[in-house]
Amino acid sequence: MPRAVPFTGERLTRYLAAHKRWQEAREWRAKETEAGRSPAYDDFCKAHGLCSACAASGVGLNGNGVGFKILGLSGNLPLYEECESCGGTGRVINPS
Ligand SMILES: [Zn+2]
Repeated sequence: MPRAVPFTGERLTRYLAAHKRWQEAREWRAKETEAGRSPAYDDFCKAHGLCSACAASGVGLNGNGVGFKILGLSGNLPLYEECESCGGTGRVINPS
């Protein structure tokens, strides 16, 4: 079972960092496309050791890829599903 975690502290920091990375990813993909390769966001994540399952945030995404998976509430604080692929680290543990 995945852990239910609040979206605060380091998770929030990671999410904001991942957000900034979208721009970087776009440029990377443009370069790869120019070089005749067909890049996907997954490839960008692999090339940078990032977990693509959670967009490097450490929190699981909804099945449709929009927003994060909420497991419940702790008081007023929503609890999200910790990403099982990376153990909530946002990084690939065993890059293949
Ligand atoms: Zn992950």
